[in-house]
Amino acid sequence: MLYCKHCNKELSEPVKRCSFCNQKTDIPYNVLNAFKLEYLLLKRFEKLKSKNPDLPYDKLEELILEKLAVSVNMQPGFLLGLFSGSSHPNLHNLVLGKLKEIDDWYYPRRRAVDELLSGVDGENIIYGALNLGAIGLHSYGSVCVFLRSEDIQFKTSFIESNSYLYVDKKGNFRVPDGSRSLWNNVIKLILLKHNKEIKELGNNFDIQDIANIILLSNGDKNTDVYIEAHICQQIKAFNIEKMTFAPKYFKQKDLGIKQKLREYYEHEEEMLLHLKTATEMIKEDYKVILGHYAFYCQIPFEVIK
Ligand SMILES: [Zn+2]
Repeated sequence: MLYCKHCNKELSEPVKRCSFCNQKTDIPYNVLNAFKLEYLLLKRFEKLKSKNPDLPYDKLEELILEKLAVSVNMQPGFLLGLFSGSSHPNLHNLVLGKLKEIDDWYYPRRRAVDELLSGVDGENIIYGALNLGAIGLHSYGSVCVFLRSEDIQFKTSFIESNSYLYVDKKGNFRVPDGSRSLWNNVIKLILLKHNKEIKELGNNFDIQDIANIILLSNGDKNTDVYIEAHICQQIKAFNIEKMTFAPKYFKQKDLGIKQKLREYYEHEEEMLLHLKTATEMIKEDYKVILGHYAFYCQIPFEVIK
């Protein structure tokens, strides 16, 4: 339920000002904006339903609601950062902290998309993916962190695909009508996007089949398929529901790896000479370290082959 942070009364919908005490609510702009446009999603969905009356809507809703979750992929070094008390940085934080250089082509576009989707909250958005139990978007990091739904659901909105795909060559950004949704309506977005594939599954499908249709990654950001989640909330270790590590997708260019390598090698040349072996060693290290943290924090942890 949505509550006003001032008078604690229940709000029936996301609003900028509480209808009881008239104070400003802390509902973020990505949610307010998505809510304002949700009638377009409902319109699209009604059309889909009238064209496809035989889709198993009730069964799908039941299966999907039970597993509905958002995951964020990150490099293992960032996850260790979460366990030492930091919150997960987004691109803007990395640029501000000089951990990432501004890319003249990508960064201004990212900023524009963030602003258009989430207004003044644009710089605070953490990007994730709707994930019903798939391996995760490992093009963004070999660790996949599933967030506790109850912590984020009222601060999260969704868009049908990677928002960056809606930027054209000239740098213009346009969100197609009815492609944004809030948590409670994301099932409609799933069906609008994937009704053909879901239909092809026939009657004997399970949730894993659906999960693998919704989120598909071969490690390339350009071809990843997913429903993008915009989370306007700091992500900390206690927000983690479960996590997986796929060592196969651990990359040499991961941020922080050089820092880690310096624990093994005194000289840069020596380090570079043994980069491959060292990367393997670090991969093993991460497996053990993450496993330990998961154990002590009682977070389910799985290493994916
Ligand atoms: Zn109030």
